[in-house]
Amino acid sequence: MRLLLVEDDTMIGEVVLDLLRAEHYAVDWVKDGEMADTALRQSQSYDLVILDLGLPRKDGIEVLRAMRSRKDRTPVLIASARDAVEQRIAGLDAGADDYVLKPYDLDELLARLRALLRRAAGRAEPIFEYKNISINPATREVQVDGAAVTLSAREWAVLEALIARPGAVLSRTQLEEKLYSWRDEVSSNAVEVYIHGLRKKLGSELIQNVRGVGYMVPKP
Ligand code: CA
Repeated sequence: MRLLLVEDDTMIGEVVLDLLRAEHYAVDWVKDGEMADTALRQSQSYDLVILDLGLPRKDGIEVLRAMRSRKDRTPVLIASARDAVEQRIAGLDAGADDYVLKPYDLDELLARLRALLRRAAGRAEPIFEYKNISINPATREVQVDGAAVTLSAREWAVLEALIARPGAVLSRTQLEEKLYSWRDEVSSNAVEVYIHGLRKKLGSELIQNVRGVGYMVPKP
């Protein structure tokens, strides 16, 4: 999953960035509204935006309004100060999907992220199940025939991207974008290596290779 973090407070930004990376999200961090706007216009690959409202150069609400007016439906989680009720209301009315209060409760932030990502994938139920395989994105527990399977962080990231859009084919490039943020270097056959690893652990049925196009998991 690839996230855009928009936060001008360096201390908060660093804490959240560390947290999200420890959870194996690929995260790009921008510190003002103009840069957020540019990043969002240049890349369609973000799964979610964490948006501060009080930002230099361009207000968070403006960034959000611009997204929605160009039909960018990427989920937006507003992060705002506890006393900024009116801003939050304006944000939700401008097309935000949810909000968290600063200072963050980090576990709540992660839970809200998961809920939004699940809803964006058209799922309400927290566990993804396909035949004998069960996948819990909150705990990252994967079971095959009831037995736990351990995945590497990158394997998990590939699997998470695929189960976020069951029935949709993701190209290698699209999967790479979910795996890597700006700071990372991409090795050329990495996605194939992770898919190979996943197939060995989960069997060959869940992740299907659509020849010449990419990979998909079927709808459960
Ligand atoms: Ca701010």
